[in-house]
Amino acid sequence: MTRHAVVVAGGGPTGLVLAGELALAGVADVVVERRTDQTVDGSRAGGLHSRTLEVLDQRGIVERFLAAGEVMQVQGLAGIRRDISDFPTRHPYGLALWQSQIEPLLAGWVDGLGVRVLRGSEVIGLAQDDTGVDVEVSGGRRLRAGYLVGCDGGRSRVRKAAGIDVRGVDASTSWMIAEVEMDEEPELGFRRDSAGTHAIGRRQAGEPLRLVLTERQLDHTGDPTFDELRAALVGVYGTDFGLRSATWISRFTDLTRQAESYRRGRVLLAGDAAHVHPPQGGQGLNTGVQDAVNLGGSWPRWWTGPHRTTCWTATAPSGTRSALGSCTTPLPRSPSAVPTTAPWPCTTPCPGC
Ligand SMILES: Cc1cc2nc3c(=O)[nH]c(=O)nc-3n(C[C@H](O)[C@H](O)[C@H](O)COP(=O)(O)OP(=O)(O)OC[C@H]3O[C@@H](n4cnc5c(N)ncnc54)[C@H](O)[C@@H]3O)c2cc1C
Repeated sequence: MTRHAVVVAGGGPTGLVLAGELALAGVADVVVERRTDQTVDGSRAGGLHSRTLEVLDQRGIVERFLAAGEVMQVQGLAGIRRDISDFPTRHPYGLALWQSQIEPLLAGWVDGLGVRVLRGSEVIGLAQDDTGVDVEVSGGRRLRAGYLVGCDGGRSRVRKAAGIDVRGVDASTSWMIAEVEMDEEPELGFRRDSAGTHAIGRRQAGEPLRLVLTERQLDHTGDPTFDELRAALVGVYGTDFGLRSATWISRFTDLTRQAESYRRGRVLLAGDAAHVHPPQGGQGLNTGVQDAVNLGGSWPRWWTGPHRTTCWTATAPSGTRSALGSCTTPLPRSPSAVPTTAPWPCTTPCPGC
């Protein structure tokens, strides 16, 4: 059995950033990732918020993302654009960049830091005791970890195996999402009807069209088929616009859930494993990255110090930032990181800190 200070289950955005943070902090970690490479199914998240750009800047890697994406004003309230260009930050804007482009950039960073990623491997079980966690991995491999962090997404097996419950609000609406090619030029933009709001868009020429269609039914099992997508299009627009092919068809709901605790013993949670929310707010990837920086950047201080039994334990009330501690010391930065005017203290008190 190989031994590691930290095993990270899941190499999505949260797991990769956590792995990088731990490596920068000198903590020996390994990532166990189910996918064999960093290919993302569909485009998923559409960009990075100002705060996420700030933390990537603190790690000295923001230029990689800025070079690949498009800077724009993305904040809004009730359909009204809010311009944040006068905010006191080096990055007073959002960055349009698909998750399918973000993840390979993060994977390249982690690779450059020498983090070992066990690809094509799945965490299938765990057993923890006072001194560590035995992590059972597919293919008969067993790892011994000082701590295991579940960054394994909304259906987190780690969370379930650790016995951590989730609570929140059930789904009220289901949406179909797809990336498609059509023979005809469809009606771009939003359309509203009695089912809700539907949208068809294309960020730039040459990219597939992206559709989001509100479904009349809430309960479904699995992803929609191509025929269901065609029927839904006809149901809303009266035509399928010559729907030719789809590279991605999926569905999502507005289900909102948060883990009752982000830690049980030596098992911790971050990102979607700890909280899921409707993707319309454009938050999941961004909050996951920020969870990872909160947790990983402060690891050496918190997990080797006297506070280790209390931090990351407190239940974070729905919609708030993850509870970490009341420390006011800026997080460590990578040697190559550019200085920032905005240090990042933890401001949420937790018992004992
Ligand atoms: C349609 C859609 C649009 C979205 N738009 C946005 C947006 O605009 N902005 C935004 O910020 N967010 C958006 N999101 C949310 C965003 O995609 C997620 O919040 C983000 O991917 C969460 O990252 P994560 O690393 O926590 O989890 P995930 O991305 O789910 O990564 C989990 C990783 O763990 C791996 N894994 C799972 N189980 C195991 C296991 N047992 N063992 C080993 N590995 C495992 C998976 O293969 C995966 O790589 C959107 C999501 C959807 C579906």
